[in-house]
Amino acid sequence: MLDPFGRDITYLRLSITDRCNLRCRYCMPEEGVPPTAHDSLLRYEELLRIASAAVSLGIDRFKVTGGEPLVRRGCADFIRHLKALSGVRQVTLTTNGLLLPPLLDELCAARLDGVNISLDTMDNVQYQRLTRRAHTADEVLRAVRLCAARLPTKVNAVLLPETADQLIPLAELAQTLPIDVRFIERMPLGADENGQTIRADAVLDRLRARWPDLAPVNQPRGNGPARYFRAPGMQGCIGLIDAVSHGFCNRCNRLRLTSTGLLKPCLCYEQGVELRPLLRGGAGDTTLQNAIREAILQKPAAHCFSQQENITEHKSMNQIGG
Ligand code: SAM
Ligand code: SF4
Repeated sequence: MLDPFGRDITYLRLSITDRCNLRCRYCMPEEGVPPTAHDSLLRYEELLRIASAAVSLGIDRFKVTGGEPLVRRGCADFIRHLKALSGVRQVTLTTNGLLLPPLLDELCAARLDGVNISLDTMDNVQYQRLTRRAHTADEVLRAVRLCAARLPTKVNAVLLPETADQLIPLAELAQTLPIDVRFIERMPLGADENGQTIRADAVLDRLRARWPDLAPVNQPRGNGPARYFRAPGMQGCIGLIDAVSHGFCNRCNRLRLTSTGLLKPCLCYEQGVELRPLLRGGAGDTTLQNAIREAILQKPAAHCFSQQENITEHKSMNQIGG
């Protein structure tokens, strides 16, 4: 379905939990967020009903996210059911990777189409400082390698001044493994309202110094707004997601559903359509479709990261799903 600005909305990010086994500084407050009452969380059956209604409006690609989606029991089974819904073209997962290895068989059997693994540094000490937990970057790298052998895999790294020395080591993963490595500008939201980022253009200059033959990849790749580049000999590509400095709102194709059932038209604004009362109040499919249509019609023209005073969304990213 087209939104009021003529953008075709085809992609929905489904957050299945706001809990996480990490506390990344740019995403979550150190103390975590007050635990969502179990009953406020959408059940898997409710998520599947929303996905079916979304499909009927032309949304056929889904990203399962969180919090950390793999901490919720039954995630792989949910993905299997989601993938089996009529009209669903693609289901992918975004994860910090720590719980991935033992679930990989089950996720492949569920016919998951791809995995994004978040990793901002290859350095174990930096990783622990950044995530405020005792896990290591080596554990995540092991998951990346295992996953890359089985499924289309991307590494996502948020651009942080404190991990600037990791840019080239992370990008080199696209040389040695058949994966895309994408650098994402840090967004000034929630727990990270005043966080500093490195601008994607500055990153591109540094990548070009390392790979002078780095060239733009012109074929579309993935569902999102990344600009992709590749140098001869690379197995994967390097992507830049410059949401803050350039903005790509004119190509925005997505909605986001929080784990408690708020359907969000845009990251920046708290506005959205509450689906949980509809689901639990016995709403039929048409009512649900109309509610999703309403969220699409509420989509604003653009985000407002450059006028921070206009940001009305104060939830942290683990509550929104990234
Ligand atoms: N736990 C999973 C993970 O880390 O991939 C899924 C949820 S996480 C909220 C989804 C994505 O949002 C991650 O890639 C994370 O790095 C990104 N993210 C979190 N806070 C961010 C911020 N302030 N700016 C940009 N990206 C952010
Ligand atoms: Fe957890 Fe992902 Fe947020 Fe890190 S970015 S705290 S792994 S939800």
